[in-house]
Amino acid sequence: MLPSAVAGHDLEFLTTFVVNGTVAIDAGALGFWGDLDGQLRVGHVFLSHSHADHVCSLPIFVTNTLDERARNIVVHGHAPVVDSLSRDVFNGRLWPDFLRPASGTRPLLELEETSEGRCCEVDGLRITPIPVDHPVPTMAHLVDDGESAVVISTDSAPTRELWRVAARMPRLKAVFLGASFPEEQSALARIAGHLTPGQVDEELAKIAAGVPVYAVHIKPGHRDAVIDQLRALGRRNLVIGRSDADYVF
Ligand SMILES: [Zn+2]
Ligand SMILES: [Zn+2]
Repeated sequence: MLPSAVAGHDLEFLTTFVVNGTVAIDAGALGFWGDLDGQLRVGHVFLSHSHADHVCSLPIFVTNTLDERARNIVVHGHAPVVDSLSRDVFNGRLWPDFLRPASGTRPLLELEETSEGRCCEVDGLRITPIPVDHPVPTMAHLVDDGESAVVISTDSAPTRELWRVAARMPRLKAVFLGASFPEEQSALARIAGHLTPGQVDEELAKIAAGVPVYAVHIKPGHRDAVIDQLRALGRRNLVIGRSDADYVF
C-alpha cells in the first residue's frame, strides 16, 4: 500500500495499492508518492470507483511523469468510473482534457473500459473486477499472478458475489478489506456503504479460514476505536493493515 500524502503517521486518508511495481489499484495517493521513479514504473491504473479518496491524485500522477514516459498510462475502469473521469476530472476545468487533446497530438492517457467478472491481463497479472456494494458503482479487484492471488476490497457494505468468486480461487493468499467505522457509527457506516468491525466479523465467515485478512481504509478520526474493536473480535487471521508496508505473497 502507498502511504497517504503526509509521511510519519499511519493514518489512511487516501487509497492506492501498487502491485509488483507496475500496476496500481486506485489512485488516491499515487500522484503524491514521494518516489518519482516508482511513479514512472506504474503504467496501468485500475480504479475501484469514482470517490475522491480513490481518484484524487490521478491527474497529478499523469502530469508528474509525462515527459519521461515512452508509452501512455492506461487507466482501467468500469463504465461509470470512466464516465466520471471524462466528465468530472479531465474536463478542461478541473484539469486539462488529456483524453481529447488538440488535433494532431496523441492523448496522454488511455481509458480501458472493464466489465464485471472479465479478467484483464496486464504485466503478468490477471486482474478481475467484481462488483461490491457501495453508494456509487464500485468494483473490488481479484489480482492473480498464477502463483498467488489477493482480493482488494476497500469500499463495500456486506457483500456476496466477491466472496463467491474468492472461494473458487485456490491460490488466494490474502484479502485487503475496508473496515472504516466503529460500531457506534453503524448508522453512518450503513449510509456510506462501509463496514463496522462487527460486519467485518460476518464477512470473515464468508472467507476461507486461514486466509489472512488485512483491515484497511480505517477512518483516520476513529482509527484507535476501530482497531480496538477489530482486535476484540479475537480472529487470528485478522491483521491491521499498514499503509507504508510492502506485502509479499
Ligand atoms: Zn467510496
Ligand atoms: Zn474510500
